[in-house]
Amino acid sequence: MPSVNDLFAHNRAWAAQMERDRPGFFSSLTKQQKPKFMWIGCSDSRVPANQITGLDPGEVFVHRNVANVIVHSDLNALSTVQFAVDMLKVEHIMVVGHYGCGGVLAALNNTRVGLADNWIRHIQDVRDRHRGLLDNMAPEQRGDALVDLNVIEQVVNLSVSTVMMDAWAKGQKVSIHGWAFGVHDGLLQDLHMTVASTDAIEPTYRAAVEGVIAARARP
Ligand SMILES: [Zn+2]
Repeated sequence: MPSVNDLFAHNRAWAAQMERDRPGFFSSLTKQQKPKFMWIGCSDSRVPANQITGLDPGEVFVHRNVANVIVHSDLNALSTVQFAVDMLKVEHIMVVGHYGCGGVLAALNNTRVGLADNWIRHIQDVRDRHRGLLDNMAPEQRGDALVDLNVIEQVVNLSVSTVMMDAWAKGQKVSIHGWAFGVHDGLLQDLHMTVASTDAIEPTYRAAVEGVIAARARP
């Protein structure tokens, strides 16, 4: 396991390597950031936005919390989205869950973890909304299905936020995507929950939930 001092050593080596490979990289970063992408993901250490997508510093604006939840009273998440959409003019926002997510599994199994139970309650609301669908699946499928459903519901929550509704009403081109990451294979899955206008929310939502059923329902 690396020590704290190792982190500084790694950092110096990384900065030197970047400057050798791409002279002027850091001085160009100081001028401004112009990312096209925003990533809303889980805080889980196994799901680092830049490494998974091969994006450099300056290319993706990131917000992470336990189980990638978007709540309309969360000023942290909404302020980050508002800055990304209104100031940075990002073109794509990805809401990214991951299989084996501790927050989602705690929600599914009613595991008490402490203060975070109140946060995880939002995922239990998703579970309860889709109770019939989940009950119809083999028990070992339910965790992955709830990861997918949580992403789909959080895309809806973001889509109906004032920030997104105002941006789309002005004709701004910005899409929200729902993805899931496989910690076991390192691959991203598209959950076909891509929304680029208020009108698209409802039909896209219904098709995406059908996709979860088709992928995981008992034969
Ligand atoms: Zn997680």
